[in-house]
Amino acid sequence: MFDNLSDKLDKAFHILKGHGKITEVNVADTLKEVRRALLDADVNFKIAKDFTTKVKEKAIGQDVLTTLQPGQLLVKLVKDELTELMGGDVAGINLSGNPSIILMSGLQGSGKTTFSGKLANFLKTKKNKKPLLVACDIYRPAAINQLHVVGDQIGVEVYSEPENKNPVEIAQNAIKHAKANGFNVVIVDTAGRLAVDKEMMDEIARVHKAIEPQETLFVVDAMTGQDAVNTAKAFNDILNFDGVILTKLDGDTRGGAAISIKSVVNKPIKFVGTGEKMEAIDVFYPDRMAERILGMGDVVSLVERAQEQFDEEEARKLQKKIAKNEFGFDDFLTQIQQVKKMGNMKDLVGMIPGASKAMKDVEIEDDAFKHIEAIIHSMTPIERTKPSIIDVKRKARIAKGSGTKVEQVNQLMKQFDQMSKMMKMMQGPGGKNLMKMMGG
Ligand code: GDP
Repeated sequence: MFDNLSDKLDKAFHILKGHGKITEVNVADTLKEVRRALLDADVNFKIAKDFTTKVKEKAIGQDVLTTLQPGQLLVKLVKDELTELMGGDVAGINLSGNPSIILMSGLQGSGKTTFSGKLANFLKTKKNKKPLLVACDIYRPAAINQLHVVGDQIGVEVYSEPENKNPVEIAQNAIKHAKANGFNVVIVDTAGRLAVDKEMMDEIARVHKAIEPQETLFVVDAMTGQDAVNTAKAFNDILNFDGVILTKLDGDTRGGAAISIKSVVNKPIKFVGTGEKMEAIDVFYPDRMAERILGMGDVVSLVERAQEQFDEEEARKLQKKIAKNEFGFDDFLTQIQQVKKMGNMKDLVGMIPGASKAMKDVEIEDDAFKHIEAIIHSMTPIERTKPSIIDVKRKARIAKGSGTKVEQVNQLMKQFDQMSKMMKMMQGPGGKNLMKMMGG
């Protein structure tokens, strides 16, 4: 995602290379490019213009430290401003009610039902909650079934009344059911339409008024660009919702919605959906997203996700190995098995700095690791524990044995090397060294 934008920004910052100080003159071209990149990413015109004006004000006259290129300084200013534009701080979710009531709103196909499941799963597994899912779509029986399928998948009860045509009543009954049966979160999935229409708005407004949710969330498909912003406005006018859920970010190559929504409706983006699987949900961190847009990768998210999947015992063992410089290809293989469990490859690659750009034209499949695994399997045990002994001759043998090319073996060696370095740096408190290296 966002590859186009980060590519263009990259070019824009290049213009500044070789200049010692940021001036009105040399910054103008760069910012023009930045603005164009934002517009291409489907960011609202006025927002893009205000954005570059602000960055310019901050940039001009700043002394560029000798160690810092003006381009780098500008990247930092742009990053900070982007972070601000997308909401600044992380916005939490209000779970103060008993039960806490969460109302989902949005158009049909935005990913409401999928997200309701993801959120229920998230609250159950990460926050130790007992959620109840409620099917309030009275028009499409398939939607009720879909929620039941999702509920079965994650082991969360789904409340529905297939014969009842009154969504207000269904929602109220569901809350009664939750109170009587010890559910502490109620997630109400509602009916959506393909476009904003009065009937839908009236209906959701009625449900909203009747159940008084602590959280009203608006779900929107990130791929719809500026339309997403317009829809958000329409729903916000009626519901004054509390937060935005941006789905399908795994497929979004433009990112304009993420950048524009906060400033148009002034409501924070709280979560993002990054795939069809129930685990493909991330808390929205404006600063990390800004880094990602700028092609710096979202290493922290990646690490967190990895941490969730890794078992502690294994992690401790691994840490020891890294500290002792004993991390080898067998461990790498184990890591790959773990990564595979994390889900969507494309999404993961997008989080690695530089990788999304480098691999932009590569079709990543779920068995993207097939070659890597084959290569490692063709190594001898000693080669796996001491990769430094792998010379040209050995590389040729490994390539032959695994049915790959020497370049592929080289590439893997390089990746391995980078990964080892990265992991060593993560050892510091909070991975600070790594962030430093990345200029954060
Ligand atoms: P609803 O009509 O708003 O309830 O939307 P659904 O939950 O049925 O989602 C519509 C389609 O989008 C389904 O095929 C989902 O699998 C898919 N979908 C939902 N969220 C995501 C996401 O974050 N990424 C991707 N790639 N697909 C998603």
